[in-house]
Amino acid sequence: MITVSQTLEAIQDSSAEEVVSQCIDRIEASKFNTFITVAKESVLEVAGETEGHTGPLAGVPIAIKDNISTKGIQTTCASRILGGYVPPYDAHVIERLKAAGAIIVGKLNMDEFAMGTSTETSHYGPTLNPWNTETVPGGSSGGSAATIAAGEVPLALGSDTGGSVRCPASFCGVVGLKPTYGVISRYGLISYANSLEQIGPIASNVADMTLLFNVIAGHDQRDSTSVPGEKDYTKALVDDVKGLTIGVPKEYFGDGLDQAVEKSVWDSVHRLEDLGASWQEVEMPHTKYALAAYYVIAMSEASSNLARFDGMRYGLRLEKDHDWHTTYSEIRAQGFGEEVKRRILLGTYALSAGYMDKYYLKALKVRTLIKQDFERALKSTDVLIAPTMPTPAFKLGEKISDPLTLYMADVNTVPVNLSGVPSVSLPCGFSDGLPIGLQIMGKHFDEKTIIRTAYTFEQNTNFHTKAPEVV
Ligand code: GLN
Repeated sequence: MITVSQTLEAIQDSSAEEVVSQCIDRIEASKFNTFITVAKESVLEVAGETEGHTGPLAGVPIAIKDNISTKGIQTTCASRILGGYVPPYDAHVIERLKAAGAIIVGKLNMDEFAMGTSTETSHYGPTLNPWNTETVPGGSSGGSAATIAAGEVPLALGSDTGGSVRCPASFCGVVGLKPTYGVISRYGLISYANSLEQIGPIASNVADMTLLFNVIAGHDQRDSTSVPGEKDYTKALVDDVKGLTIGVPKEYFGDGLDQAVEKSVWDSVHRLEDLGASWQEVEMPHTKYALAAYYVIAMSEASSNLARFDGMRYGLRLEKDHDWHTTYSEIRAQGFGEEVKRRILLGTYALSAGYMDKYYLKALKVRTLIKQDFERALKSTDVLIAPTMPTPAFKLGEKISDPLTLYMADVNTVPVNLSGVPSVSLPCGFSDGLPIGLQIMGKHFDEKTIIRTAYTFEQNTNFHTKAPEVV
């Protein structure tokens, strides 16, 4: 894997053009299907322009999940329906990255419209996990985590609606953050379930993830849910957890939890205890309803957000013109994949007259109870620690034909999105050569404490120094 400081040194020793062109070579040689689009044409010129740039990421290559709008670079959400769509504007995070001197090298593979846990629903074929190409990289930001693990680029952006940054970070042995809802502008993020999702930074270590987070966080008036965050998150990169109280929610260690995962997570809690933290068990009794509430809310919002893909304004066109109704249904029939259609149908059903009270409104009430679980648990503690995923990466094809089993893999990540709190996943062990992810959750807007905890853990362990053998 590559770090930002190595990259900055390489730029000093040669040039940003040289570093970016090596990065493009690695991407083109990738065996993991990490990218959908490589921004080859413009990238060297842009790199040349960063000469003398003083931004924190001057000349540093970064890859972007393909649901984040990039001016002049195709953005597909890994869907056939957006094939050939080139956004006329940049997302807020892209504006920020460019201002910091970063170079956008391309767009990353993902589950179609970010709906999935394995990057197998992509129209462009699955991404493979660099640690073992028979396994999935996690999802939906599978391309983002796999490209970091494979050492193709030092930094990537993903998005996390119900775990899509943390799950692939866990399966690929890298670091990924889901910030507090509102800390990063969603302007230019193509919505799946807008009340749940945030863009999140992914990198090979906590310091690089934090540096990237620092660049992209901040208020943006074009997103009405955006709030001003902290001025400088890198101040939280402190190797010290003395006096910190960790809560361990037993509900996150339920049925189906892999033994190696359970052991690694407890070992991590004890490691932090050795370093001066204390821990206690906490109760989060509504966790068992989180999956049901999440999928009702996410699908309901998806059914509404995806109504805009009507074959008129973006992407796929029919060969011949038809009346509006035929065009609309034909484009959607041909353009969306099976999982996206399933969710639009279920979401439309859950919102329909007569059923809305029974499903959608009930799910919103459960959401409040889950948020209260977090508030209660975090009253007597500073952070909560749990497994990110109940198992290491599973095999390609193992769960994709059984949607409910696949949804169940999200059991430990979706409560965080329902409540809006921040959460980071970082490597904490291995099982049969596959990485295990540690999830550290915190109070609303208290990214600093989870960053400090993650950084201290990383500085005192060596899991982040391991990388898959990529020939
Ligand atoms: N796996 C979850 C889903 O399919 C989460 C996806 C995400 O965070 N984008 O909805």
